[in-house]
Amino acid sequence: VNQTLPLNEQLLKLEQLQELDLKISQLEQRKQELPLALGELDQKLATLQEMRNEKKTLQEAAEKSHKQIQAALQLHQERAEKATAKLEGVSNPQEFQAANKEIDQLKKFSDDLEKESIQVNEKLKAFESEMGKIQEEVEKIEAERAEKASAVGAEVGKFQAELNKMLEKRNEAITGLDRRILSRYDRVRKARAGVGIVPAIEGNCTGCNMMIPPQLYNVIQQGQELKDCPSCQRILFVPQQRKETSAAEIE
Ligand SMILES: [Zn+2]
Repeated sequence: VNQTLPLNEQLLKLEQLQELDLKISQLEQRKQELPLALGELDQKLATLQEMRNEKKTLQEAAEKSHKQIQAALQLHQERAEKATAKLEGVSNPQEFQAANKEIDQLKKFSDDLEKESIQVNEKLKAFESEMGKIQEEVEKIEAERAEKASAVGAEVGKFQAELNKMLEKRNEAITGLDRRILSRYDRVRKARAGVGIVPAIEGNCTGCNMMIPPQLYNVIQQGQELKDCPSCQRILFVPQQRKETSAAEIE
């Protein structure tokens, strides 16, 4: 149980793990981005809802004014009837004149109210037709959204299945890895944009492009100790191929 893999094999495992982790985080990101496609439609629906609310306020005001006009017309009608009745029972020219004047006035008021009533009715008809158009648009977008949502749901499911496979692979990949090395890698990876281990090439860290102090670079090349970059803290390794090439060159 205490037998651990040599460091170069641990590093190789970490390298493979890093590749896997990058794929996993890409999948996770794409999975999270999928529902964003619905956002545009949600925005359209919210705008339509706002329009509908504004129109509704105006429509209600027009309806109220319509009712008031109808009530006023009714009142004038009743008064005109009374005035007409009065006209029949007048006993002198003064009373006749007064009743006639009242009738004329009431008729003028009523005519004005009728005109106003026609205008308000036209407004109400226009509102009704606009509201109908908004409703049509809302239904169209809601249908589109429902269709898209189910497509997105299916896609999310596919991504999740792929992710589950990857996570299983990850579990396999970490067996045999030293727990302290793994937790060090995971910690740096989370803090550093998903990358916890990077190759050191020609004396530079490929994670942050900083030059590695020569003494440290030598230690890393020997591959006997686990070392990280002094500036980005990522674990450093010298790619195997490179080491073999330089060994061949020495021979
Ligand atoms: Zn670095």
